[in-house]
Amino acid sequence: EAKAAGRNRAVLYHDQMDQQLQTQHWIEGELRKALKADGQLSVAYQPLVAASSQQTVGAEALVRWTHPTLGRVSPARFIPVAETSGLIEELGTFVLRQACKMGVRHQGKRIAVNISPTQLRNPAFPQALFSVLRETGMSPENLELEITESILLDDEKTANSALTAFREKGIRIALDDFGTGYSSLNYLKRYPVDRIKIDQSFVRQLNEGHASVAIVQALVSLAHAMNMDVTAEGVETSEQARILTQLRCNTLQGYLFSHPIDEAEISAWFAEPEYPTAATA
Ligand code: C2E
Ligand code: MG
Ligand code: MG
Ligand code: MG
Repeated sequence: EAKAAGRNRAVLYHDQMDQQLQTQHWIEGELRKALKADGQLSVAYQPLVAASSQQTVGAEALVRWTHPTLGRVSPARFIPVAETSGLIEELGTFVLRQACKMGVRHQGKRIAVNISPTQLRNPAFPQALFSVLRETGMSPENLELEITESILLDDEKTANSALTAFREKGIRIALDDFGTGYSSLNYLKRYPVDRIKIDQSFVRQLNEGHASVAIVQALVSLAHAMNMDVTAEGVETSEQARILTQLRCNTLQGYLFSHPIDEAEISAWFAEPEYPTAATA
C-alpha cells in the first residue's frame, strides 16, 4: 500500500515536472522571439536614494517583459529560464546596453545592472561588457554590477578574475540580496566588493522586533570597517527609512521612494530629485 502511494506520488511528481518542463520550454520559445521582436522587452529603473540627503544618486536597471498575450511576465519567472536556455547572455547584453545608453545621458549617476551567475561564469563576459561600454560611451565609474552570492560558489577563479578586471576599469561591484546566502561573510573576504545590498527580508522585519535591527547594525559596521557602502533594498515605510538612516545605511531603495519607472520618468527624476511620481514600470 505504501508502495502504491509512493508510486502515485511519483507519477504525480512526474506529471508536474512534465508540465513545468513544457511551460519552461514554451517560455523559452517566447523569450527567444521577444529577443528578436521589437518592443516586448524593456528596462525599468528604480531610484537609489542617498539616506542622508534624500538625493537620487542613481538607479537600478530591471528588465521588463510584456508578452503579447500573457501581458507582464515577472523576471522571477523568466530569468531562470533564460539562464538554463543560454538566452541570458543576449538578454543581459540587451539590458546592459540600454542601461549604458541611459547612463551616458546622466553623467555622475550610478547605474546598477544585475548580472546573472551564468554571465559571470563565461570567460568571454568581461570583454563583451567592455565593448558595450566603448560602444555606448558609458563611463565605467558610473556603472555598478549587482551579483548574487550564489555566483561565487561554483566558479571561484573565473568569477574572481572577472571581478578584478571590472574593478581595474573602475566599475563597482555590489553583492545583491546580502545576508540570504550560506556564507555571506566568506565572500566579503574573498572577493573585491564595493557595496553590499541588504536583502529586503531584513528590511521588512525592521519594525517588528529587535533582531533585524541588530543584524542590520552589525552588517553596516562590518561593511564600513571594510570600506564598503551599504544599500538597503525593499524600503517601503518611512519608519524603515528612519531606522536605516539612523543605522548609517548609505543608500535606500524601495517603493517608499519609487517603484521601478520607465526611462523618461527616471530622467525627470534625475533632473529634479524631489520629482514625485507614483507610476510603475
Ligand atoms: P533584485 O536585483 O534584488 O531587485 C529587486 C527587486 O525588488 C525588483 O523586483 C524590484 O522591483 C523589487 N522591489 C524594489 N523595491 C521594492 C519594495 O519596496 N518592496 C518590494 N516588495 N519589492 C521591491 P523585479 O524587478 O521583479 O526583479 C526580481 C529579480 O529578478 C531581481 O532581484 C533580480 O535578481 C532579477 N532581475 C531583474 N532584472 C534583471 C536583469 O536585467 N538581469 C538579471 N540577471 N536579473 C534580473
Ligand atoms: Mg539587484
Ligand atoms: Mg536584491
Ligand atoms: Mg533578488
